[in-house]
Amino acid sequence: RKIVIVGGVAGGGSAAARLKRLDESANITIFEKGPYNAFANCGLPFYVGGIIPKEKSLLVSSQKQFKDYFDVDVKTNHEVISIDRKNKTVSVKDASDNISVVPYDKLILSPGSRPFIPDINGANAPGVFQLRDIPDSRQIKAWIESRNAKKAVIIGGGFIGLEMAESLKVKGLDVTVLERAPHVMPNLADELATVLESKMKEKGIAVNANNGVKEIISKEDNSLEVVCNDGSALPCDLVVMSVGVLPNSELAKAAGLELGVKGCIKVDDHMQTSDPDIYAVGDAIQVKDYVTGFDTHIPLAGPANRQGRIVADVLCGLNSYYRGSQGTSVCGMFDLCVAMTGQTRASLLRSKAMNPDDIGTVCVHSPNHANYYPGSTPIHLDLTFDRRTGAVLGAQAVGVQGVDKRIDVISSYIHMKGTVTDLVQAELCYSPPYGAAKDIVNLAGMVAE
Ligand code: FAD
Repeated sequence: RKIVIVGGVAGGGSAAARLKRLDESANITIFEKGPYNAFANCGLPFYVGGIIPKEKSLLVSSQKQFKDYFDVDVKTNHEVISIDRKNKTVSVKDASDNISVVPYDKLILSPGSRPFIPDINGANAPGVFQLRDIPDSRQIKAWIESRNAKKAVIIGGGFIGLEMAESLKVKGLDVTVLERAPHVMPNLADELATVLESKMKEKGIAVNANNGVKEIISKEDNSLEVVCNDGSALPCDLVVMSVGVLPNSELAKAAGLELGVKGCIKVDDHMQTSDPDIYAVGDAIQVKDYVTGFDTHIPLAGPANRQGRIVADVLCGLNSYYRGSQGTSVCGMFDLCVAMTGQTRASLLRSKAMNPDDIGTVCVHSPNHANYYPGSTPIHLDLTFDRRTGAVLGAQAVGVQGVDKRIDVISSYIHMKGTVTDLVQAELCYSPPYGAAKDIVNLAGMVAE
């Protein structure tokens, strides 16, 4: 059978590899509109900053490897421009604008997302960048080098914005992060965000919060000026716009597939769209929030990869299904680590998922390992739980070491529908250099119980 995949990076690549492992006879073609398939989007900010020195390190797998290892045809620089559901074909445009019509038995959409560009003057001015793919990162690097850029403004203090802020600072630029919300990482609890912003200030990154962008002015000397909502102006040599992403669902929409929240492609838990022969995965789809059960959009690489595997399982007759996304994520800021999973009190109130009186929260502070062993550093951890049942609903933490480990542990408990008592009972690694006999995960459970 003929399987066509649109988008050859996280979700599309995972689906193809798993399909071939399950069914060697499957005839699979991946169409990727960009110049590379299977590249590491997540590594791009570190490449811009020079922390990952070689561009080729970002190429996780090539067209040739897909052909040699899996016998999967990958066509880069090929954009799928329309889907004919009746005749089960896609139209594909190559780099020379030639259009071909390709039949499918099953179609998998993994077209990802694209940066949201606010509707302001100057959003597309030279020197204003987004970071989505390897050519973007190349352009940013070339701009900095050719103009000897000294000052950068990052608009948006989410994960990509913060990673870019650190990378550009490491490169020696003056960096300001402009954030419309009251603090960077708007989903982070206020007290944890304070720790994060203190680290940014300590490292010389200016944070301009509670302040959005009004317009960007190109100056005669080729520099830029970011005019903020409060009327102030930030002169700079480049701007990185990272204010969120939009699902690439236009192809699906034009084909008449059902869309859901924020225009994401609607799928069931087998990743099937409203057309039984078309499946979709990754940043372009709507998912169920694992904790609240509400429909949402959670564009992250882990979910995209798992969904790619699931769609392959489903197409090969296995009873796999996607359970939902928790939004487990992590971000570094120099030696500080910020990680989170699931819901917070604020997000539960915002979505009206729970009655305020039923939401429990505790905030605990404890060293990452036994205090008496040299080199311990504090972790600040917020836990959110259901007062009625004790169910763990979310956690966020900030610290230097061991933060990701704690959030991963709690994420697993959330996934297994664990309670605060389960956290008390959790038996975690301990010897003085690594943990504590009462780990911060246990302590959070104890305080909440
Ligand atoms: P993608 O991996 O983006 O692949 C979609 C591909 O489809 C694209 O290459 C696109 O060119 C192609 N395409 C689109 N339309 C068509 C068409 N019509 N025809 C042919 N091809 C098409 N997530 C994390 O969990 N952790 C991180 O640290 C992290 N860091 C990130 C840093 C950056 C700078 C970026 C941009 C993203 C980061 N992400 C991170 C998000 C992560 O990369 C995405 O969630 C993930 O790649 C989504 O997988 P996908 O398959 O849906 O889309």
